[in-house]
Amino acid sequence: MSGGDGTMVKIGIMICDRNRKCIGNKCFKAINERDGQFMNYPKDDLIEVVGWMTCGGCPGERLEYAPADMKKYGAEVVYLASCYLAGYPACPYIEDHKKYLKNTKMLFSHIKHIKSLKKSFQTFN
Ligand code: SF4
Repeated sequence: MSGGDGTMVKIGIMICDRNRKCIGNKCFKAINERDGQFMNYPKDDLIEVVGWMTCGGCPGERLEYAPADMKKYGAEVVYLASCYLAGYPACPYIEDHKKYLKNTKMLFSHIKHIKSLKKSFQTFN
C-alpha cells in the first residue's frame, strides 16, 4: 500500500459465481468511498481494478487462472468480495481458495477477516 502521494494501486476482485450477474455496485462504492477494507488506502491514491472475475463456479474452476491473470496485469492484492460469505451457505470452499492463493505465493498471504457486510472484502495482504 502506498502513502497518499497519488500513486496507483492495482487490485483484482474475485466474486462468488453464484453472484455472477452482480453489477458490483457495493464493491466499487467501497473502493470509491474507501470503506471497509479500503479505508487504509489514502484518498489521494488511485485504485485501479485490473480484473473482476467470478471464481468460475464450485469448487472454484477459475481459481488457478483468474488471480494469475490479475497479477499479470499488475494486481498487488486480490480481494474476495463479501458475496463469498453472504450467500447461504457461505462458500464452503473459501478456506481452499485462501490456501491455494497462499501456497502459490501469487498474492499476499495474510488474511483479514471481515466483520460485517459494510466491510465489503476479505483481503490477502
Ligand atoms: S466455490 Fe465458493 S465462491 Fe465459488 S461459486 Fe462455489 S460457493 Fe461461490
